[in-house]
Amino acid sequence: MKSSNDKVAIQPSLVAGRDYPRTYREFVEMFPDDEACAAYLEQLRWPNGFFCPACQITTEPWHQTRGRLVCPSCRHQTSVTTGTILDKTRTPLTTWFEAGWHLTTAKNGLSAKTLERTLGTSYRVAWTMLQRYRVAMVRAEREPLSGDVEVDETLVGGVKKGGKRGRGTSKCIVVIAVEAREPKGFGRVRMRYIPDASGENLMPFVCDMVIPGPVVLTDGWGGYNDLHKHGYTRKKTVLSSSGDPAHVSMPGVHRVSSLLKRWILGTHQGSIEPSSRYPLTSPNREPIKKTLTVLIP
Ligand SMILES: [Zn+2]
Repeated sequence: MKSSNDKVAIQPSLVAGRDYPRTYREFVEMFPDDEACAAYLEQLRWPNGFFCPACQITTEPWHQTRGRLVCPSCRHQTSVTTGTILDKTRTPLTTWFEAGWHLTTAKNGLSAKTLERTLGTSYRVAWTMLQRYRVAMVRAEREPLSGDVEVDETLVGGVKKGGKRGRGTSKCIVVIAVEAREPKGFGRVRMRYIPDASGENLMPFVCDMVIPGPVVLTDGWGGYNDLHKHGYTRKKTVLSSSGDPAHVSMPGVHRVSSLLKRWILGTHQGSIEPSSRYPLTSPNREPIKKTLTVLIP
């Protein structure tokens, strides 16, 4: 059993009972409080010691209240949960760990209702934890898309349709790639939230998500001009300035985009009250972006 002060290096091959609990009893012993949970996360995140993201050195951080870690060299503040699904959570880490235990040991899946009853949290806390865990559990190293692939951006959120490519609008840009299957139908889908629709964002997305070689179907947007430099064959569908309906030229992207918008609407007007932390139509764009970052890792 580890105390929160023990430094347990997580080796490439994890050992049950040492690096993670085998039984519920071991789980309870390993994670008695938030400090133990945070120490465990630190070991997972920085197995070779705390690494300051600001000045890029490995050092021993100062531990402050509420999980804050301060770099003694540059005074940069961070925490072990920054940038993870636990970022800025108000739910105790022990509750998150408990939820993680039940989620990974439940034989037939775990509903938010069951989790609410098991942990004694509110339904909303249970639902949020499950949602975030599910996003995180999508395999990180998935096979890249292949075959003909449609790529286009879509605008999500906001109230009305914005200007050119979302620049200066209150919406968020999501770039979508869909495998186009012949003679009919679609394959797998990849999405990413991007700050703007420039080639600087579009090219890395295509390179990350699509194996080199296939035909990439895009519209005439200049952000895709460098596709050939990365080994792709671009097939351009130039929309008339009046704007052909997107479903004519990019049926896959169009369908995914509609589903995404409906899903976000359902997510926020169904299970979370519209006025809560992720309002859909806020003049402040941040909540929408945060939501998309959670939904589209
Ligand atoms: Zn630093």
